[in-house]
Amino acid sequence: MDLTFSKEDEDFRREFRSWLDTNLPAEMRTGAFWADKTEDESFSIRRQWEADKAAAGFAGIVWPTEYGGRGGTPTMKAIYDQEMIRANAPTTVNPLGLTFLAPTVMFLGTEEQKKTIIPELLHNKTIWCQGFSEPGAGSDLAALQMKAERQGEEYVLNGQKIWTTNAMHGDKIFTMARTGAPEGSKKHAGISMLLVDMHQKGVEARPLKQMSGASEFGEVFFTDATCPVTEVLGGEGNGWQTAMLLLSFERGSSAISQYTEFRKMWDEVAAYARETSRDGKAAAQDPVLRQQLAKSLVELECLKYHSWHVLTQTSQGKDLGFEASMTKLFWANTFRDLGDVYSDIAGQEFQLTAGARGASRQELTSMALWSRSCTIWGGSNEVQRTVIAERVLGLPR
Ligand SMILES: Cc1cc2nc3c(=O)[nH]c(=O)nc-3n(C[C@H](O)[C@H](O)[C@H](O)COP(=O)(O)OP(=O)(O)OC[C@H]3O[C@@H](n4cnc5c(N)ncnc54)[C@H](O)[C@@H]3O)c2cc1C
Repeated sequence: MDLTFSKEDEDFRREFRSWLDTNLPAEMRTGAFWADKTEDESFSIRRQWEADKAAAGFAGIVWPTEYGGRGGTPTMKAIYDQEMIRANAPTTVNPLGLTFLAPTVMFLGTEEQKKTIIPELLHNKTIWCQGFSEPGAGSDLAALQMKAERQGEEYVLNGQKIWTTNAMHGDKIFTMARTGAPEGSKKHAGISMLLVDMHQKGVEARPLKQMSGASEFGEVFFTDATCPVTEVLGGEGNGWQTAMLLLSFERGSSAISQYTEFRKMWDEVAAYARETSRDGKAAAQDPVLRQQLAKSLVELECLKYHSWHVLTQTSQGKDLGFEASMTKLFWANTFRDLGDVYSDIAGQEFQLTAGARGASRQELTSMALWSRSCTIWGGSNEVQRTVIAERVLGLPR
């Protein structure tokens, strides 16, 4: 494992930190700034700020310059993630495009797809959604029902997707649909990944409300929507292989950014435990809560070393493939456990809204609520364990 940064890495850190110091206003770093904004307002401010950052050269850190990237290294990308979190910078509005679609396009897209898709998403000209899950197809993705019938030079799509992140703000959706029949018991056959314009009459997005009150995802209905036959990623009928590649990016190659974010959250939770009273003394002195906080910190530090190990391997060009499931399982559990520690310390106060508790506490609550979803999306914990058992450890099916 390599724990050092090169001179180029440190120069990059200085350059990006200095850009953030100048271009990220102090108020945008606080929860209070975002607390009184509607979801649409927040989205549009973040979209523009991120586009400005891309215009300054801080986007697509590891991607080739010919496609609008910076041509940097995986270590620089880890530094970029660390600095974004350190500065409390807004998170990306285009996570499905940036983290999942772009590396898949880089790997198996046509030259034309690389040249059009990647620069546009880097500059937030196109916000991407992921249309995999359906009401009857989540973990069992191959059970999907959405149909794409070929009529001349286009597909005609009919069906429904659900849990679509950014459904209300999406411009395009990479979606899985049946372009052919399954081959006997092989449900994975006959599926294609299509790149569909969401701004057309046959596509309707409806919001879904989360337990935090936000509507970050929704349902998408396709009624005779169309998509040119050229807009297939990975080739017709190869959707399953394309999706497995994309999911390995979704599950993540390194968790440095998650570690940095959760460690910051842990510091805030520990500070909260020191100033919150429990049975007449500080919650931090409660023997059970102290144990929980200590356990959570140990998990976090293990996550840090796991992440450095993974980063070293990817920097050396190793393809992690299905091992990405181990990282996803590790960080998702660490995050959920930390959220639980916070809710135990907060007790009934956990239920209060922003106005009663102040924006910073509300941020912790939002994170704790959000942590519950991370053991579900991108494949649930049970699914990750099955992948690790069968594909990494080679255990019998
Ligand atoms: C915040 C969030 C954002 C999301 N964003 C998107 C998005 O943008 N696009 C998209 O397509 N989807 C998205 N999803 C959907 C997500 O991918 C699915 O929720 C997930 O794949 C699980 O599917 P399901 O909800 O249908 O649950 P099910 O598949 O019905 O699973 C229910 C339970 O059964 C367990 N289970 C199922 N099968 C097995 C098995 N074979 N062995 C053991 N246990 C099993 C699961 O682990 C789970 O605990 C999002 C989900 C969340 C929570």
